[in-house]
Amino acid sequence: FFIPPRFTMAVSDTQYLLTFLGLFVVGLVISALADRVRYQMHAAQTREAETYEVYSLSRDLASGTDEESVTRAVLTRMTQTFGYAAVIMIAGDGRIAGQASLRSMGATPGLEIDEDERAVATWAYQHGQAAGEGTDTLPGAALRYMPLTTGRRTLGVIGVRRQNRDAGETPDRRRLLDAFVNQAALAYERVELGEQARRVDVLDATEKLQTALLSSVSHELRTPLASITGVLSSLKEATASQGTFRMKEEALAGLAESALGEAERLNHLVGNLLDMTRLEAGALRVNAEPVELEDLMGAVLAQFSERARGHEIEVAPMAGLPMVPLDFVLIAQVLVNLLDNAVKYSPPGAPVEVAAKVLGDEVEISVADIGPGIPESDLERIFDKFYRVSRPETVSGTGLGLAICRGIVEAHGGHISAANRPGGGTIVTVTLPREAVIDEGRPVE
Ligand code: ATP
Ligand code: MG
Repeated sequence: FFIPPRFTMAVSDTQYLLTFLGLFVVGLVISALADRVRYQMHAAQTREAETYEVYSLSRDLASGTDEESVTRAVLTRMTQTFGYAAVIMIAGDGRIAGQASLRSMGATPGLEIDEDERAVATWAYQHGQAAGEGTDTLPGAALRYMPLTTGRRTLGVIGVRRQNRDAGETPDRRRLLDAFVNQAALAYERVELGEQARRVDVLDATEKLQTALLSSVSHELRTPLASITGVLSSLKEATASQGTFRMKEEALAGLAESALGEAERLNHLVGNLLDMTRLEAGALRVNAEPVELEDLMGAVLAQFSERARGHEIEVAPMAGLPMVPLDFVLIAQVLVNLLDNAVKYSPPGAPVEVAAKVLGDEVEISVADIGPGIPESDLERIFDKFYRVSRPETVSGTGLGLAICRGIVEAHGGHISAANRPGGGTIVTVTLPREAVIDEGRPVE
């Protein structure tokens, strides 16, 4: 058109025919290549959209920690991505007449299935194969049921109803649907495994606690009871012989003393158990009133004096310290418990030091001894119920004392901790707020 003779389609030179052919072929090749690139771009876009959909689903599923939230995520995504209504059924624990029972987890609002549909779902579950509409098995069903299968087992079934059935289904859509179902199955399995792990944890803790309770309490209960029974039977024997009481006075005093000691031990144990129960039931009432620490220490020493067993209790001067709002009886019990430990776990006659100081808006009371100390790894755990440091020497105790102390101190809004002293020995520190904050920080009137 642009070569002579111009503006006509007539060909004047055969060479031009060749040029035309050459250009025509090149044009064809280029357009074919361009078409291919366009097709590939389109495919890449579709794949990207699919990946995005699967990604969105897994993101939604990952945030679900229970069956309900997973079900919600799956149903929502099913509608958003495919426009399908869906129903999810998970296998229950029980089996009815040899048949696995599927319980409905949830369905798109408005979708209900009847007994026949349920039978198709059960078939899909039992055979681990898709069944129903669009498959080779029972294609007459209204929904298509796909098993939720993971590497381990089949967890349940998901049924989908396609809105527009004549619109056909591309292999891509079908693949995407399978990917969705796989993701859902994995999510349900994850929830189930998480649940199992939690149950095992709880069982484990309960079992440990029960074992500790039994071994501690049974030993602590039976030893004093055995001694008291022994004392009583010797007394009975002494009276039984020919109506006269045949026993030396010193022996009698010894027996009475040992029985008394054991009865006290029993009383201590039962008291501790009751305190612990009260603390755990939340029935502990803190009656906080401003108290002079000096008065408190006086009362504690008076209570403790007969149990000091020759240990010197050195109390640092407390005059000049401010009044602290606390429950006199309860905090005295804490300090008696701490003194009791300090005396119990240090060599005979070793001194025990008690001191108090003000630190900002808190008051610290510490009880220190020069005993064997506590292994670093146990410093936290000694405040647990029934926890006792295993030691070669046998010192009687239930492991409740410090647990009770912690309960009482925390009810005051304070805290308690133990540490080893640089030169050897243990120091237990009780920290109490100078303003009463009891019951989750509510000031006490
Ligand atoms: P109880 O219920 O009769 O008080 P317990 O003294 O054994 O029994 P806790 O007072 O709770 O129980 O103490 C827990 C453990 O912490 C003890 O078994 C002991 O091993 C360790 N412990 C506590 N205080 C001291 C201390 N001052 N020095 C060394 N170890 C200690
Ligand atoms: Mg103790």
